[in-house]
Formats: sequence, C-alpha cells, structure tokens
Amino acid sequence: MVHKKSTYIGRVFGIPIDVDYSWYFIFILLTWLLSAQYFPVHYPNWTNLTYWILGSLTSLFLFVSVLLHELGHSAAAKFFKIPVTKITLMIFGGIAQIARNPKKAGQEFWIAISGPVVNLILWAVFHSLASLFSSVSGIYAFCTYLAYINIVLAVFNLVPGFPLDGGKVLLALIWGFNHNLKKATIIAANIGRIFAFLFILWGALSITIGDIYDGLWLIFIGWFLDSAAAVEIHKTYQTHSNEAI
Ligand SMILES: [Zn+2]
Repeated sequence: MVHKKSTYIGRVFGIPIDVDYSWYFIFILLTWLLSAQYFPVHYPNWTNLTYWILGSLTSLFLFVSVLLHELGHSAAAKFFKIPVTKITLMIFGGIAQIARNPKKAGQEFWIAISGPVVNLILWAVFHSLASLFSSVSGIYAFCTYLAYINIVLAVFNLVPGFPLDGGKVLLALIWGFNHNLKKATIIAANIGRIFAFLFILWGALSITIGDIYDGLWLIFIGWFLDSAAAVEIHKTYQTHSNEAI
C-alpha cells in the first residue's frame, strides 16, 4: 500500500509515526458523534463543555489505542531483530511497516498476535477503571467507551482474513504445520475469502430484516476482505507481503 497523503507527527522508540489525512476526518466525526449525540443521550446531566472535552479525549484515545496496537506489532518485530521502518495511522487503523518478512512461522505468529493482545490488555485496564470509578460519571463514560473500542479492535483484527492480523495468525499456524510459506499463504487467503463471504451473507440477511445500515457496513467489510484476500493470493506468486496491519 502507498500512503503519500500523510503527515509526520514524531517518533516513538525511534519509529517514525505518520498520520494519514483520513484520520483527521474520523477524529472530527467521532468527536462530534460522541459530544453531540452519544454522551448527551446516555449522560444527560453534564455541561456542554464536558461533552466536548470528553468527546475529544475519547477520540484521541481511540488514536492512542490504535498506535499502541501498532507498537505491539513493532515491539514483537524488534524482539526478533526485524527493523520497523514506520507506522502509519489511518481511517481503519494502522500499518506497522517492517523492513523484511519474518523467516519463521513462530516470528510471524508473535508479530501478528501482539497487536490484538495490546487491545485486550487495554480493554482489561479500561474495564477495571470503569468499575473502580463507577460513581464518577465522566471517568466511567470515558473508560466504558474505550473498553468497548478496544474489544472491537481486538475481535475485528482477529478475524482470520487478509490483511487482518487474524489472517496472519492463521497463516503462521498453517505455515508452522506444513513448513511451506507459499501453500500456507494460499490456504489462509482462501479461508479469508470464506470469512469475507460470511460477512457479505450476514450483511444481506441484516438488510432483509430491515437493518440496512449495519447490513451495508457488513457487506462493505466482506467486500474489502475478499478483495484483500484475492490480492494476497495474486501477490504470493510474486513476493510475500511485509506489512503487519
Ligand atoms: Zn494489527
């Protein structure tokens, strides 16, 4: 993937961090949704200023959660002495670009799973903080929403389809079993296409029962996963992907 439309915001542990312009759009949209819609409906007694401060902070921590996810992949890559070229954050998450492909199935497995594991840890932390501060509505709302975001990030990324982390975990497991990277990639990508088809089917069923908004989203995700799996199969005949998403 090529990302030219991004701005450099600094380095973390020596890794340059780029933010894609699409992320600014998501930040504004999510801040508005939380400050003007979600928080006022669920917590009607706050002041306007509180809604906007908490809305922006929650949006910002969605960004921090995605960044920590990518740093999870990066830490695992660095552990295996694989340099991380840069991290790009964008509309559906981020990419930690690594200098070379893992040479062993075990390395591929740990690099892929480290991102979702970070989100599971964040979910546990925010979930505990929400229970601890259940009487302080602002902190409770902030922590509950971030716990929710992190469990969604963990579960979605673990779906076994390319280019999601779950697809790479599956690839690593098959590779570890059959010791053939090319064949493992094709099997994993085809399993990914089955999951993509299930998303599309689920979306179509949702639309038939009147849930058009969720249905369209599911079809879009399914279509995205199917295209990505098809690209992965095509690429396998040339070179192996070097991006951990
Ligand atoms: Zn990831």
